[in-house]
Amino acid sequence: MSAVEVRGLGVELDGAKLLDGLSLSIEAGALHALVGESGSGKTTAANALLRLLPEGAKVRGSALVGTVDLIALGAAALERARGRTVAMMLQEPLAALNPVLTVGAHLTETLEVHRAVTKGELRSRAVALLEEVGLPEPASRFHAYPHQLSGGQRQRVLLAAALACEPALLIADEPTTALDASMKGVVLALIRGLAERRKLAVLLISHDLWAVREVCRDVSVLYAGRLVEQGPVAQVFARPRHPYTHALLAARPAPEHRGGALEAIGGVVPGPNDVVPGCRFHPRCPRAEARCRIEVPALVDGCACHFPLGGEGRR
Ligand code: SF4
Repeated sequence: MSAVEVRGLGVELDGAKLLDGLSLSIEAGALHALVGESGSGKTTAANALLRLLPEGAKVRGSALVGTVDLIALGAAALERARGRTVAMMLQEPLAALNPVLTVGAHLTETLEVHRAVTKGELRSRAVALLEEVGLPEPASRFHAYPHQLSGGQRQRVLLAAALACEPALLIADEPTTALDASMKGVVLALIRGLAERRKLAVLLISHDLWAVREVCRDVSVLYAGRLVEQGPVAQVFARPRHPYTHALLAARPAPEHRGGALEAIGGVVPGPNDVVPGCRFHPRCPRAEARCRIEVPALVDGCACHFPLGGEGRR
């Protein structure tokens, strides 16, 4: 069994399905990308795993991290699990870090609350964490405030804080959004290195398929709350089978082919209250046929499409 096993995860709020039956596995030491446009359900999935959903949201399914089912935990056990079993790295370091607390205060507070660390050990443990995430001069940066650091350095501090309690699962929600292009690859490579060294399972949420290509082992593509394609990154990138995955890849050229013509995906992702019978992608799909407007495609061999690309006898 994998380190993380999510089965049939669904979220419903006020009768609207925000997420509909997401299943995925993550091996210890590996990164699994969850990709899709805004409104695809990526952040809802992350919030469901962390149980940070609005009041009244109904969650179904299971999310096993080792032997702990995050979805089944009661309030006290959930509090213990946050940080220790599952931790989150947010996308906006300036918003996530308290501007009046030093880097050291952020880390020692987390260590104090969640782990059995003596007062005497707090500082050395925090500096060791900063060193592990590659923050230059960690001992002196321990005293720095967030505004005294660069964007990349702040992101490293957030990563150190997320790792402080040695979680088994790290959820990284668009961790490179606030970074310039040169730092994106550096931070993603850092996360991969830490995952391998710590045997950490990482769920990497991104709207950008190409950005995750180098670091993730597997990818799940979500569209309007449903899983539409899933598989090893190498396979999905080389031969996308779902028209939406194909369109996502074509909407942004591969980094090595900058300057190529882009193919925008026409239309918008339907909202959770929009009624779209059959395949939810059909109003935007160039391959749609009558069946697509009536019948919801099941996920078969990692693709939820009646007429997958490369399928027998098809265009
Ligand atoms: S099921 Fe039909 S509409 Fe949906 S992605 Fe496949 S071909 Fe397109």
